[in-house]
Amino acid sequence: MQELPFFDTQTRPDRDATPRSRRYYLWTVGCQMNISDSERLEAALQGVGYSPAARPEQASFIVLNSCSVRASAEERILGKLGELVGLKRAQPDTCVVLWGCMVGPDNRSIFERQLPMVDHFVSPSAVDAVVALAPNAVYTLDEPALPVRDQDHPPVSVHVPIQYGCNMSCSYCVIPLRRGRERSRPLAEIAEEVRRIVACGAREITLLGQIVDSWGHDLPGQPQLADLIAAVHDTPGLLRLRFLTSHPAWMTDHLIESVARMPRCMPEVNLPVQSGSDTLLKIMRRGYTTTRYRALIARIRAAMPQISLTTDVIVGHPGETAEDFAQTMALCEEIGFDKIHIAAFSARPGTPAAEQERDPALAVPEPEKQERRLALEQLHQRIATKRNAAYLGATVEVLVEGEARGKWRGRSPGNRLVFFAHPDDWAGRLAHVRITQTSPWALQGTLQPPDQSSHPAIE
Ligand code: SF4
Repeated sequence: MQELPFFDTQTRPDRDATPRSRRYYLWTVGCQMNISDSERLEAALQGVGYSPAARPEQASFIVLNSCSVRASAEERILGKLGELVGLKRAQPDTCVVLWGCMVGPDNRSIFERQLPMVDHFVSPSAVDAVVALAPNAVYTLDEPALPVRDQDHPPVSVHVPIQYGCNMSCSYCVIPLRRGRERSRPLAEIAEEVRRIVACGAREITLLGQIVDSWGHDLPGQPQLADLIAAVHDTPGLLRLRFLTSHPAWMTDHLIESVARMPRCMPEVNLPVQSGSDTLLKIMRRGYTTTRYRALIARIRAAMPQISLTTDVIVGHPGETAEDFAQTMALCEEIGFDKIHIAAFSARPGTPAAEQERDPALAVPEPEKQERRLALEQLHQRIATKRNAAYLGATVEVLVEGEARGKWRGRSPGNRLVFFAHPDDWAGRLAHVRITQTSPWALQGTLQPPDQSSHPAIE
């Protein structure tokens, strides 16, 4: 898996008088790809007459969008399914769908489990297949629903999947087994979707894929991500464009140059390194060396000096020695990532790393894994403290996403969280904020008056 940020979300209820027969309850665990799938499902269900329910017992259609990247995610879903046994007994007309990465192209492992409370199993991203199971859907001839939950008030920032599946075979990753081979969505389809989402009020689009840089290689004419970015960049109303997640073996100089040239492309790259040891990268089958990774970072920084670099690291992969881990620490310190998503290795059935984990000579003991995770987290905090402190006194351009605890909450171009207080409604607008306080996790500041809005912003 590209370590997309991990979420655990549930249906947002509304207050209308829709009966239980046309209420759905959706619970989502997993990465941004699952969140995006769930947003699309919610929009589609609302398009066929369903409304969200706050609790499972208030719905006749229950969907659990699952994740199998870590054992703990699967355990959460299995726990939730366990809670539904009594509900199914009390309300037998309830339809329960297990969706997502626990139901991959290879379904043997899920069918081996006894899950009598599940009526249907649907593989990841198959939104239409889930909607087709909704027993009381009402179809009209209207334009298809936009893939955003609330058609009248779409979020400021929307993730648009441009590709599904992955053709790599990283030792630890279950995604290719569950999401299948790469399938790129056609350029025209994505561009039209972006146009419609932005026309409804979204201001930032993140193009989403497991290896987003490989988009297009399976399409006629083999367009590249840079072509897609160029095609959507000038969408009227679009303020910001991002893409997630990159792969060091796939990111090209052409893409770097294109992103550096296009003003709405934000200066942010998520480039998972996973380990700072060449031995480990080979065991992980990542397809690059640390030398190549460092050279790529140097080229990105040369083209975009203000780039915000984030990465993913797995600690405690089978075979990782103390020396390998020390090399990971050294590489992270040297590069000075703005953010590091850290995961302690979790063996996933069917992957080569799960086999290796069974060998006591290769397995890293759990306390050691946790010690390494903690050490890297502490390093990350030190780096983030320093990098964010550099913003003190600077003015950053912030795209405001909404309110949080009495303040406006938005993102800088490099995707740093920024908070400021102001009585006006700033949602969906660009604000210039002078930073007065920093922490490893966020920046706080004050709004610059309109006449100073041309104050040079950093990043
Ligand atoms: S196989 Fe590798 S590249 Fe593909 S999703 Fe998993 S970690 Fe990412």
